[in-house]
Amino acid sequence: MVTVLDLSNAPRVRHPEKAHRPDQEVLRKPDWIRVKAPVSKGYAETREIVRSHKLVTVCEEAGCPNIGECWEKKHATFMIMGEICTRACAFCNVATGRPLPLDQNEPESVAKAVAKMGLTHVVITSVDRDDLADGGAQHFAETIRAIRALNPNTTIEILTPDFLRKDGALEVVVAAKPDVFNHNLETVPSNYLTVRPGARYFHSIRLLQRVKELDPSIFTKSGIMVGLGEERNEVLQLMDDLRSADVDFMTIGQYLQPTKKHHAVKKFVTPEEFKSYETVGMTKGFLLVASSPLTRSSHHAGEDFAKLKAAREEHLRKPVKASA
Ligand code: SF4
Repeated sequence: MVTVLDLSNAPRVRHPEKAHRPDQEVLRKPDWIRVKAPVSKGYAETREIVRSHKLVTVCEEAGCPNIGECWEKKHATFMIMGEICTRACAFCNVATGRPLPLDQNEPESVAKAVAKMGLTHVVITSVDRDDLADGGAQHFAETIRAIRALNPNTTIEILTPDFLRKDGALEVVVAAKPDVFNHNLETVPSNYLTVRPGARYFHSIRLLQRVKELDPSIFTKSGIMVGLGEERNEVLQLMDDLRSADVDFMTIGQYLQPTKKHHAVKKFVTPEEFKSYETVGMTKGFLLVASSPLTRSSHHAGEDFAKLKAAREEHLRKPVKASA
């Protein structure tokens, strides 16, 4: 069941559903998790563009460790439909509660910010909007169209919610023709009840499969975090499930605990284990696998899009083996 939290009369608390939870020990990060401090000129310029267009980014809302690196290069991931999410996932730092009505000017504002930043590839994500009849599908589609109208050479990647119980929503988004459709599985199915309780694993797999059925020209992408207590074999099974749905690109990164009220880090996965996941993933037929401690869905998304296109072309050039 999806819970929409009504906090209209309560003082604003970022994660009300987590407030009563016992504290989880926050483990010290290992040496291989190093991030760039957000102090550069490019970082300040990106922040100014985001503020002046009154936009929200997942980079800030989720407390992404790569913000110093990405914003220096003017890579930001815009989060549309507000900064309050109707789900309450145990890993996520985005605020939860009752969202505000949609800002009808937002598609235009995002398109203008993309133009000002000169982005050749943009990633758009959103909070979950279970309160809206279409889950925000139309707003996603309008944002894609507005970006395309003002920035015809910019490629567009979207990272969507699961549109659970929103019949027809996915079709509306796919019809707007994003270049990359990303929807994250986040973790292995055995963790769903504790990590992603509002979602359904096989619904998410089916969503990705349906995108390819509706429009095979769109690249599909999905990601997980590791270090949440999953077994290696479960990750390998999840890879097979994504390949069954014809997903092109998989990302794997280390889960980092935002506060002591969030899900505990069960393990810091070593860089060697990440590399091994990448190797195995490629043998399973993904066009691309990005796997490292600081990999995030939108990290290096522009460079990865170029690699995806090259990998697809290479794949299509390969001669088809004649059957005996
Ligand atoms: S990895 Fe993605 S979310 Fe994190 S700072 Fe970069 S663009 Fe933003």
